[in-house]
Amino acid sequence: MGSFFEDSRELRQEIIDTCLQLTKLGLCIATWGNISVRLKEGMLITPSRMEYDAMRPEDMVVVSLEGKTLAGDRLPSSETALHRALLKRRPDIAVLLHSHAPYASALACAHRSLPIFVEDMAQIIGDTINCTAYVPGGRHQDLADAACSVIGDVSMAVLLANHGVIAGGSSLQEALTATLVLEKAAFIQATMGDSIKSIPADQVEEERHRYLYKYGKE
Ligand SMILES: [Zn+2]
Repeated sequence: MGSFFEDSRELRQEIIDTCLQLTKLGLCIATWGNISVRLKEGMLITPSRMEYDAMRPEDMVVVSLEGKTLAGDRLPSSETALHRALLKRRPDIAVLLHSHAPYASALACAHRSLPIFVEDMAQIIGDTINCTAYVPGGRHQDLADAACSVIGDVSMAVLLANHGVIAGGSSLQEALTATLVLEKAAFIQATMGDSIKSIPADQVEEERHRYLYKYGKE
């Protein structure tokens, strides 16, 4: 693992299409969702405060993992620090998708972490989804540090206390799927509460391994 993407007009359009899907799927309101894609040098990230249906490929911004804008005329997303820090912390993640998915946000408001209790969570998320401590809005670097301190080495998602969620993947499609899988799990948690039975850790590990290395390959 440790993949990156080649910057292209098609990739930039794919990011925009994923943003539009986020809205269509009810995973974010207005422009409070943002996406980053790892490049060989830095990352491509969505611009700050721009309506998704007005976004064009040239509006995407290239930012180094140290925070320097390398290309683009727009301001990068206000959550750039969060994306940079997580891409640095987890070289196995190529795409990050931040959203305010409703059920995941509900859990984040309760500062609840989410154990793995559905098979698809085991496959695509791989480990407990931890929730950060509360970070006041606007303290972007503190939020980035908080997310890095709880993501661990395996889990593909983190709940951001009183805010939302960020989920990763090896592609845009996979990061979107991880967000949807997490949202469904958050719904199950919200409706079933304490009666939920988690999947044993060794089985979670086996399922994740099967998804990464064997699924569709044998
Ligand atoms: Zn947000």
